[in-house]
Amino acid sequence: MKKILIAAAAAAMLLSVAQAESHAGHAKHWDYSKSGPATWGEVSKTCAIGKSQSPVDIVTTATTKLEDGNALTLNEDVKTTAKVIDNGHSIKVTPKKGGSITLKGGDFDLLQFHFHGKSEHTVNGKPYDMVAHMVHQNPKTKQLAVVAVFFKEGKKNPILDTIISAVGKEDVTLNPKDLLPADTAHYYHYVGSLTTPPCSENVEWYLMKEPAEASKEQIEAFRKYYLDNERPVQKLNDRKIQAN
Ligand SMILES: [Zn+2]
Repeated sequence: MKKILIAAAAAAMLLSVAQAESHAGHAKHWDYSKSGPATWGEVSKTCAIGKSQSPVDIVTTATTKLEDGNALTLNEDVKTTAKVIDNGHSIKVTPKKGGSITLKGGDFDLLQFHFHGKSEHTVNGKPYDMVAHMVHQNPKTKQLAVVAVFFKEGKKNPILDTIISAVGKEDVTLNPKDLLPADTAHYYHYVGSLTTPPCSENVEWYLMKEPAEASKEQIEAFRKYYLDNERPVQKLNDRKIQAN
């Protein structure tokens, strides 16, 4: 009898933990291995049935000219303190007050940026060595816009050192502009989705053509955290990628 009571109490406790978690809005578990991209439709249907998903392969010969109305203005030069965490899917940096971008007449604030151990978007079938996704949101419409900065192996990159050595710290001083390549006037643009669940669509993507650089050691240091945190490329369907 005592055993049954203990078992019942334990079960009730587990149930209440599960309920508390679901009440707190904890989404179903997903990752890049057992619960990987092919199963994300169980977490959010959009991941499986969306027709405007990201990432995609950019076929440079198939791009069209950037329409004037889609031009991007970057205002990322803001020194700020930031929180750097390992969120279980990536190294994520949340600035206290980052910069912003302007597109289609709207301002989008920098919410956070994070890294993937290889680029998710590919160019002519090839991934870059790493990518930073700078996630922005229009505070009025809530629409998201992501600026992607590819990294290729080369020179040591000061801001990456700052970030990699600060995982778990709350008040890291940095300037998000230091992530950007020298040439920010040329980019690819299309409308896609978040590359992680819930894979929400209507995300404005801007991918810098010029990659930034990171040293071999920095790429390896990052990949010690995450080697394979990339969603495979998705179908472009009837979308066109614009470029300037
Ligand atoms: Zn990302």
